[in-house]
Amino acid sequence: MRTIRSLLLPALLLIAVSGCVALRNNRDILFQTSTISALLEGVYDGHLTCKELKKHGDTGIGTFDRLDGEMVLLDGNVYQVKADGAAYAADDSLRTPFAVATFFEPDHVLTVRDVKDYGHLHTQLDAMLPTKNALYALRIEGTFSYIRTRSVPRQTKPYPRLIEVARSQPTFEYRDVKGTLIGFRLPDYMEGVNVRGYHLHFIDSERMYGGHLLECQADSIEVHLDRMSQFHMTLPEGGDFDTFTIKAAEPEEVGKIER
Ligand code: ZN
Repeated sequence: MRTIRSLLLPALLLIAVSGCVALRNNRDILFQTSTISALLEGVYDGHLTCKELKKHGDTGIGTFDRLDGEMVLLDGNVYQVKADGAAYAADDSLRTPFAVATFFEPDHVLTVRDVKDYGHLHTQLDAMLPTKNALYALRIEGTFSYIRTRSVPRQTKPYPRLIEVARSQPTFEYRDVKGTLIGFRLPDYMEGVNVRGYHLHFIDSERMYGGHLLECQADSIEVHLDRMSQFHMTLPEGGDFDTFTIKAAEPEEVGKIER
């Protein structure tokens, strides 16, 4: 009896320790801070620094304190595409009110040809997914014959709702540009917490300009797909997040702004 117990205890400890290690090493996590519903209502004050965000991923998208531009997190570097369409290296101390990130480790690489428009890209990608019920991060590389992006200008208080900001958003058109699209494809059940379907941000290969993707065309692009099995959300504490009325997001409104 004594022998069994003396063997059993180290074995159990070993299982517990290896379980912890497995959990710590698992990078298949979709991390996000705040919710798209909060952003829609005008919760734009940043609460999480870029330095903190990078602890949760090397790849992602989001926005900045006071809605000051579109975020592209790529290869561990945070770029801020401001309302002039130009990309700037974001300081570690800059804060975000909403961001999504992961450590990008692609499971699939696909070539997609003859992309007529953004909707066509969605259809082609959807047909290639193992399932539409999972969480995916995407990194798309290629030369785009046409691309249209937008950014958002820094806001002052009292903050307008995001739909109001989007009405006068600056948009940018580029032709024959080489670059990277970073973003996510999330299932319908994520609407409100995040954006259902595809949400991609662009940055050119020289990391000079970019923005939230509105439209694209390409002859051939390479799609890297990372399927994630875990979801980790953190929420702001205090400020507008506590006092604003954050309703369930209207899918139509999210569509107008983010898709
Ligand atoms: Zn966006």
